[in-house]
Amino acid sequence: MKYYILFGPPGAGKGTQATAMAEKFNLCHISTGELLRAEINAGTELGVQAAALINNGKLVPDEVVEGMIASRFASVKGVDGFLLDGFPRTLKQAEALDELLDEDGEVVTAVISIMIPDEMIVERIQGRALKEGRADDASLATIQHRIDTYHAQTEPLIAYYKARGKYREVNGVGSIEEVREAIFNLF
Ligand code: ATP
Ligand code: MG
Repeated sequence: MKYYILFGPPGAGKGTQATAMAEKFNLCHISTGELLRAEINAGTELGVQAAALINNGKLVPDEVVEGMIASRFASVKGVDGFLLDGFPRTLKQAEALDELLDEDGEVVTAVISIMIPDEMIVERIQGRALKEGRADDASLATIQHRIDTYHAQTEPLIAYYKARGKYREVNGVGSIEEVREAIFNLF
């Protein structure tokens, strides 16, 4: 099985590019952000707890997202692999993923990182807020907090995956088609 990680700051376009990649390589796309938003919309207990964190630009606890990933790995059949979007987001999550895969004799295949500068993160998320109405996109303070969290907790994963020879990067500045092309050119 292939295990791809789509990496990048908030608003980099992970969700947009994931759809094309999942189709091309017959992968199951798992977006932890989308799974959490589904819990929020369904009004589950987990959703209520997650909303309080997400809507303030904070991460949900590692165990929560780790559990979501493990249950999809165990239940999804008929694909050639998985495309993780928004996970791992902390070093602890990256280590948990390695352990989970190791139980099945599997490893991370590659990390595809979509990079954009901080100013563009703000611009894109503010544009998306007008269209999608996500509560965590609504205020500049929340967006800024997510950027800070990205730099502090998620960016260290770049070194983690570089050290393991898994890291590939594309320029996320450009049209959706240009970025898609750059990603497909990696393979
Ligand atoms: P993009 O626009 O590139 O898809 P994003 O950061 O805007 O990225 P999501 O990935 O959908 O949005 O995540 C939304 C929120 O869900 C995060 O800010 C965080 O609160 C929570 N979340 C998602 N994945 C994780 C995770 N792996 N660990 C902890 N919290 C997470
Ligand atoms: Mg997303």
